[in-house]
Amino acid sequence: MGDGNKSIHEFDFKLICEYFSIIERQGPGSPEVTIKALSFIDNLADESKIADIGCRTGGQTMVLANHASGHITGIDLFPVFIDRFNDNSRKLNLQDRVNGVVGSMDNLPFQNEEFDLIWSEGAIYNIGFERGLNEWRKFLKKGAFLAVSEASWFTEKRPAEIDEFWKDAYPEINTISHKVAQMQKAGYIPIATFVLPENCWTEHFYVPQVSAQEKFLQKYAGNKTAEELVENQRHEAELYYTYKEYYGYAFYIGKKI
Ligand code: SAH
Repeated sequence: MGDGNKSIHEFDFKLICEYFSIIERQGPGSPEVTIKALSFIDNLADESKIADIGCRTGGQTMVLANHASGHITGIDLFPVFIDRFNDNSRKLNLQDRVNGVVGSMDNLPFQNEEFDLIWSEGAIYNIGFERGLNEWRKFLKKGAFLAVSEASWFTEKRPAEIDEFWKDAYPEINTISHKVAQMQKAGYIPIATFVLPENCWTEHFYVPQVSAQEKFLQKYAGNKTAEELVENQRHEAELYYTYKEYYGYAFYIGKKI
């Protein structure tokens, strides 16, 4: 029976991975936003070292590579993503500067003061914003940068439905000013913060999911996991369209003191 359960879980996991591999992104963002965040960082040269934590298949990493000097190490928990990351790097002829490794953000295989820049889009929530800021700091050289994007409240108060949804999904969601203060407290100079424009959620995230969801449901007709997964994603998108004045993603850029 144990084996039966295991294979069901593996199948669920495979399904979830397949769903996220057919959609363009796994969180809000865009190449324009990656480039904008990078514009606040002024310490990079050919010998610089950059880490992209929770890099997935490397969409934003390759944008970074094309707009910044230095060597980039992408790291993600899942080998399937890292295999595709390294394929993408080779296809773009970036393999000498960009490579992916499997590892966990709560136990990074890096040296103290190794990096000039730590990047992480839509991923730090996996260990929590404050913990990530505190734990990753030691891997940065003095004066090096950290740039992360993170779900944030835009207002002090918001309707109960969206408040409850986020408190369940990610209790550490908070206002931008609160997160800037956390960054300061963790030992960074807050250099810049900006709200991701709406098209990062619509054009780059929820809109491409609509046709992907239809194809996915056709392929897995009658499969409960597939149906629930799509249902959840649709619910999340509806909440966004209803409550987008209250929350979104913000980029936080800090410099290690
Ligand atoms: N940065 C990408 C992916 C964000 S989704 C983008 O902007 O599109 C979050 C990523 O974090 C996923 O690829 C997931 O596999 C990865 N992840 C989750 N937990 C992790 C952990 N403990 N260590 C490293 N990566 C993790």
